[in-house]
Amino acid sequence: MMTVKRALCLSLFLLMTVVGSSAISAVILQYHHIGEDTPRVTTASVPEFTAHLDWLAENDFEVIALDELIARRKNNQLSTADTIASISFDDTSKTICTEAWPILYQRRLPFIIFVNTEIMEVANNTQCSWQELQQMEKTGLLTVGNHSHTHRHMTDRSGFNSYQQWLKVMREEVVIAENILREKLSSVKKIFAYPYGESNERLQYVIEQLGYVGIGQQSGAIGNTTDLTNFPRFPLSGRYADLEKLEDKLLSLAMPLRAQNVEASNNDEQGPILTLMLEDGFDKQVQCYLGTGEAIDTQQNKRQVIASYPHKIQAGRNRYNCTAASDLAGRFYWYSYQWIQQ
Ligand SMILES: [Zn+2]
Repeated sequence: MMTVKRALCLSLFLLMTVVGSSAISAVILQYHHIGEDTPRVTTASVPEFTAHLDWLAENDFEVIALDELIARRKNNQLSTADTIASISFDDTSKTICTEAWPILYQRRLPFIIFVNTEIMEVANNTQCSWQELQQMEKTGLLTVGNHSHTHRHMTDRSGFNSYQQWLKVMREEVVIAENILREKLSSVKKIFAYPYGESNERLQYVIEQLGYVGIGQQSGAIGNTTDLTNFPRFPLSGRYADLEKLEDKLLSLAMPLRAQNVEASNNDEQGPILTLMLEDGFDKQVQCYLGTGEAIDTQQNKRQVIASYPHKIQAGRNRYNCTAASDLAGRFYWYSYQWIQQ
């Protein structure tokens, strides 16, 4: 019970292992549809997708399966020499099978699809079929992750009588999907992508208790101290598919964090207070921005960085992006904190 209460507390302090040092770059690419006929905001065209993969090859990125990236993070094996990328798809758009798959297979690139299972239960020619997923699995290139059963907004507790009831239903979302996936497929990993990338500490606690690693869609690179319940990813669809805008992201470096802390502010006229504790010896100046790009007051005292937006935050999805220049030309440390403002 104490643990639940701790997870409930917004000021939970996440202590992380201190290993390695700065300038680690491992990134996860996030896609939904590949092609022309699907909503632009969640679609990368075939030429864009191909350009992204060409760029990774030209820049000597090692493309590895996401479970392998997670294993290296858990074992503190991400090193400063690495440039690593993992490819991920959310949902099971038919275009993954028809458009992306031939390209990935030709290049023998591993990838993961996060499957929400309810939609798979009805015949639907806009989705990959179980058979198609099974065929891709047989090559060893596809692994499958959990994306909940119904793809609901999981942080939304409205309509639930109690926290306990919400908790029970959220656990079922994960467990039902896992059972269906294990029945149908052979490459299922305990990796969970939050629908819409939306999570909070309560949900991250659920995911951790079920033995999963949690994947968000806040931007950022992954290092040996990245939170295993909320890995960042770079969405590369719509206006984010443009290669020019992409290079900064794919070359970003993991902010070398020892710990992070988020406190809700005491009043409605201020955003949450984000505290970052950086690794020993990190001497770069960090600046944080609201998701809109507006610079926010960022106080840094040696390794401690405190940032908070001093005005009312709009309801809905928000983020703080914190960056710092590195010693590597054109490459920046990047950390993003995303939350849903009620
Ligand atoms: Zn999704």
